[in-house]
Amino acid sequence: MKIHPHFASWEKSYLFQELEETYRNLPPGHRNRVIPLAIGDPDLPTPAGIREAMIRACRDRYFGYPSVEGRKDLREAITRHYRTRFNVAVHPDEILIGPGAKTDLFDLCAVFARPGDIGAVLDPAYPVYSDSLTYRGVRIEWMTGTPQNGYMPYPRIAPADAGRLALIYLCYPNNPTGITATRSYARDMIDFAVRGDALIVHDIAYADFMTGTDSTEAFSIFALDGAEDIAIEVGSFSKPFSMTGDRIGWVVIRNRKARMQWRRYRSNRDSGVSEIVQLGALAALSDPDVTREVRDNMRIYRERADILMEGLSGMSDMVMGLRNSPYAWFKSPIPDSRKAAGIILEKALVQVTPGVGFGPAGEGFLRATLFQPADKLREALNRMRSLSFETA
Ligand code: PLP
Repeated sequence: MKIHPHFASWEKSYLFQELEETYRNLPPGHRNRVIPLAIGDPDLPTPAGIREAMIRACRDRYFGYPSVEGRKDLREAITRHYRTRFNVAVHPDEILIGPGAKTDLFDLCAVFARPGDIGAVLDPAYPVYSDSLTYRGVRIEWMTGTPQNGYMPYPRIAPADAGRLALIYLCYPNNPTGITATRSYARDMIDFAVRGDALIVHDIAYADFMTGTDSTEAFSIFALDGAEDIAIEVGSFSKPFSMTGDRIGWVVIRNRKARMQWRRYRSNRDSGVSEIVQLGALAALSDPDVTREVRDNMRIYRERADILMEGLSGMSDMVMGLRNSPYAWFKSPIPDSRKAAGIILEKALVQVTPGVGFGPAGEGFLRATLFQPADKLREALNRMRSLSFETA
């Protein structure tokens, strides 16, 4: 057996796969008592209108292979969503429906970077960006986020690497910190990309989740001048609509040449997204009953966010997030986040995510999701409150 050297150079398995395995390997008596707050998988069911639309689709007809770019009616619904949600006019032809944001995010650098080029990646952030760059032989330039720079860091490209920056990955609202960028920061990044002949990948998987109401509310990168030619925006149905298992997201590419390249790649890589799932996604954006159910779900998530924020604030020096994302990002009781998460799992039977899994700057932090009922969250907080890390 031969292993591709780029793949072999990965030090680890996928973070959330590791967490899943740790959970599965617990003794059964423990496993049943563990409160899992590590993986961002909504616990509230997919809204009924979405499920019914998928059942109808199954019952009514046979579809055959879907088109690579996705159904026109779904792309039109995303266009309407962009107009009402972000006040941005994108054309349905500028949208490609894909099999989940993760899959597309992982592959963008297969098209838009050359081996030896540089991908600038937020640190901390969703690990898929850096993992995909490693796999394709693209060098990673970590953009280190800190509380001091408001988790809005800038790339630093050495003069010797001028011209090698290919991609800048932005994720706002951010996983794991929950930070939503300011528009002036995004404008700076657009200028940076234009000067370096690079593309921005803007991941808005959380833009429709529990949206805040302050000046930093989530926005589409295409709301900003200059983004049209140099940005790719990736969206997902997973979190706001509890559709993680259905595997559907979208990519907006307004630059025609770039879109043609991505379409060409897609038509080689996959054969589109199940029409049944696409019809579920269409209901997600167009059925008023779904809109109502999602609004009710967000109210439940907001109540849970308050519970987590209050509980964790009593235990940790610093708690962030929970406004525009389903995550609390908080200072770990000890600097080694893997060790802290291990102790919390072993002694409190609560699983949280070690911050270092999101990049080097995540060390010293932990992430907890709100995807558990309120009573479980309260129980998890009680168990964590009684822990001692003194001898750790
Ligand atoms: N982007 C971010 C920032 C995420 O946190 C996640 C999943 O956790 C994804 C993308 C993946 O979305 P999808 O389920 O559409 O693949």
